[in-house]
Amino acid sequence: MNCSYLIKLSELTLKGSNIRFFEKKLLDNIKAYLKHTGAHIALRAGRMYAEADEAYAKDIEYALAHLIGISGWARARICEKNIEAVKKAVFEEVQAAKEKGAKTFKIEARRSDKNFPLTSYDICREAAAPVCDAQLLAVDVHHPDLTVHVEVRERCFVYGNPHKAHRGLPVGTGGKGLLLLSGGIDSPVAGYRMLRRGMSMEAVYFHAYPYTSDEAKKKTEDLAAVLARYALCMRMHIVSFTEVQMRIKQAGPENWSTMLLRMCMMKAASAIAREVGALCLISGESLGQVASQTIENLSVTESAGDIPLLRPLIGMDKEEITQSAIAIGTYETSILPYEDCCVLFAPKHPVLRASVEEARLHYEKLDCSALIKKAVAEREIKRFFAQRDEL
Ligand code: ATP
Ligand code: MG
Repeated sequence: MNCSYLIKLSELTLKGSNIRFFEKKLLDNIKAYLKHTGAHIALRAGRMYAEADEAYAKDIEYALAHLIGISGWARARICEKNIEAVKKAVFEEVQAAKEKGAKTFKIEARRSDKNFPLTSYDICREAAAPVCDAQLLAVDVHHPDLTVHVEVRERCFVYGNPHKAHRGLPVGTGGKGLLLLSGGIDSPVAGYRMLRRGMSMEAVYFHAYPYTSDEAKKKTEDLAAVLARYALCMRMHIVSFTEVQMRIKQAGPENWSTMLLRMCMMKAASAIAREVGALCLISGESLGQVASQTIENLSVTESAGDIPLLRPLIGMDKEEITQSAIAIGTYETSILPYEDCCVLFAPKHPVLRASVEEARLHYEKLDCSALIKKAVAEREIKRFFAQRDEL
């Protein structure tokens, strides 16, 4: 037996003449999730269809639960284009929902094929009749437990409540970004936000072993693995910043240590970005959240890099970011207690309103270009792929 899915595309349907580029990327992405399943995937008139052997239903649902560029999906019953077949499929759908506890229902019909002899209204009325006659569920047009959708296209598709998807633009349509990924709550969400704008992504993590633990590194790798579920593939650059941190501690003013570290991170990340073809850096900063994120200090951080720095969370509050982290599955890992290098070397009274000029003077005194170059050259690289690990 086969399982079939009907998938709604998201905002890429608003694209003009370059829509094919976005559609092709979306198809490539879903096929990458499902290459081991032999699934048949098709894209027609703003809808995507996936069909595979029943044994692969969970694989398809995993893909659709992570695929970016679709607004919703549902497992569908496909039937012939006649009202008797539709009535039977609707009846089965209602019966299945009743077994799961639904008490009320309504039907919504959409007739894309205008040659079908019944109007949408007629389809609803005819298909509801057997359900009502059998007193399976009661009709509630305002707040039904189940809405049965009937779409008349090249065939008829009947499905129950659809699942919401991630929307956004297909990963790989928006250039590549390099995410500064720490073990905190914010940066994974920042990465996810830019994936949803179609970016493909690599990540960079700075650690300072033995001042930061292997657990802290493992935690960040786990976060990269979660992001890979959406990105399909995520390369992670792990840079040892111990020597750079020691130099900052020796040669920089104590209250400047966080800002100097952030400037060094920007230098190193810019170099890696250039090497891997990333067109921007992405960070999880949000205005005013901590001392290093006042507008003055954000300007200092930015001044140290030489490619654009995107801050998708800049206007979000912690609660919104946390909700997003829970929704994408990074929160549980992010709140594990292992500290990253920013926290360990944090000064008691950090400079709050740094000036770019003063920052440059302190930075130059560190004379750490060679140390940064060495740390970048000696970095470790790991790869993570979308895996159906939680099934
Ligand atoms: P997060 O929750 O993402 O750790 P945060 O609120 O703790 O952020 P900071 O520690 O000031 O804020 O870091 C700001 C941003 O700098 C992070 O969101 C991340 O993009 C980047 N960053 C911080 N520490 C690291 C690190 N060790 N490796 C890579 N990037 C980092
Ligand atoms: Mg942090």
